[in-house]
Amino acid sequence: MTDTSPIRPVRYWDGVPVPFITAWSKEEIPTQELVKVHRSSATFLGLQDETDVERQFGVSWMRMPATRGGRPQPGLVHALRQRQAMNRMLCQLCGGPTVGSRKDEWTLFLAADADGHPLLNGERTESPPVHAVCARLAVEHCPPLRHRGWTAALVRHTPIWGVAGHLYDPLTLDRLPSAPQHRDGMHRVPFADTPRLRWTLAARLIITLEGVIPVTDLDALADEETEAIRARSEGGGCSLLR
Ligand SMILES: [Zn+2]
Repeated sequence: MTDTSPIRPVRYWDGVPVPFITAWSKEEIPTQELVKVHRSSATFLGLQDETDVERQFGVSWMRMPATRGGRPQPGLVHALRQRQAMNRMLCQLCGGPTVGSRKDEWTLFLAADADGHPLLNGERTESPPVHAVCARLAVEHCPPLRHRGWTAALVRHTPIWGVAGHLYDPLTLDRLPSAPQHRDGMHRVPFADTPRLRWTLAARLIITLEGVIPVTDLDALADEETEAIRARSEGGGCSLLR
């Protein structure tokens, strides 16, 4: 790939690619210093000495160092990199932009396929998009995808839906338990649910997948993508002049 390629170098650990959104051992989550914020006749949850970057989409975001040091923590998602990837449509494996990596406006999503279900129209996801080249690398080398299978789809629209995060009691600021099906202890809160959003410390941005076409041939998509990137780096439509 060229320097202008949207495909970034992928990090490896023990011969296995480590996704951009995976947390590393030196990115331990510190104690979150929570406060009640009183502003414009409203009271809501905030972080002590909160910066603008720590409050986005009308909600405070979990503090977490971003060093990518130590060892990767498979299955643990880094709150800031996941939000960046979702918000800017960055590839969850390499961290490069997925917008513009295809000739059309569709974006590729890849998920573990534990139950044999394809990605569905209207489905919500916390899993950012992926380049086709990176998806092919992931299904070849990432243990969960190799062992449990995978499902992929091209998606036309990806509106933001809400956040996954910890919900706190407005009076005591004690963390409230989540529904039993969410074993990560987090609540899924839509942006429309202002009362709950006010007392949520967000850790992941959730989007909705709209206009979904299932994909089974990642090789063909990866070849298309490589060709589209090459054509763009060579000047695209100017090739008629050569
Ligand atoms: Zn990528």
